[in-house]
Amino acid sequence: MTDNTHATRMQKKKDVVDGRIAKATEERGVLILLKGNGKGKSSSAFGTLARSLGHGQQGAVIQFIKGRRETGEYLFFRDHPRLDWHVMGHGFTWETQDRERDIEAAQAAWKVAEGLLQDPNYHIIVFDEMSYMLKYGYLEPEPIVEALRNRPRHQSVIITGRTMAQPLQDIADTISTVQDERHAFRLGVKAQAGIEF
Ligand code: ATP
Ligand code: MG
Repeated sequence: MTDNTHATRMQKKKDVVDGRIAKATEERGVLILLKGNGKGKSSSAFGTLARSLGHGQQGAVIQFIKGRRETGEYLFFRDHPRLDWHVMGHGFTWETQDRERDIEAAQAAWKVAEGLLQDPNYHIIVFDEMSYMLKYGYLEPEPIVEALRNRPRHQSVIITGRTMAQPLQDIADTISTVQDERHAFRLGVKAQAGIEF
């Protein structure tokens, strides 16, 4: 390819991109859904959270399912002055399968979530693993959709989870599916601090 052709092509690309940038003029918060079976949903959410906090914004996290161990992101972010971190999944009982208790835990988490969605002080909110609450029927989609729709205009929300309820997808601005192509676990590598949690 001659330099000239390359320059012409790049100029065309630039024109297209500039055109799109010129059209995207709205300033508002967005609803981002990160779904799929691959690794990278929660870590992406916390990466965006770091980005937002870096700009001096105020954030909140609700962990809907508490793992067996404290995660690195929790240990890193918990003392941040502009971040509130709520671990709400204490009640979830994969072992005993106590559905009533799970529903109570989910509803308690939702109460906190609802409060955040009404608070204009928060620029960014991460609802980590929230989608399971809908999948198992612990929470109904309607009040969640309603609260998301009525949140402060500048507030962004990121929801993670392998499967995403359709009503959430219907109102989302950005949806990314993380595809599972390969995972070290299946190669026999154990879950490691700093990589998996
Ligand atoms: P991460 O927190 O690493 O971004 P994730 O949020 O996309 O992962 P989850 O579905 O929440 O993934 O699963 C949490 C844990 O399971 C993480 O430790 C992650 O590394 C691991 N994991 C994610 N996807 C896979 C997979 N396809 N196979 C095996 N383990 C996985
Ligand atoms: Mg996750």
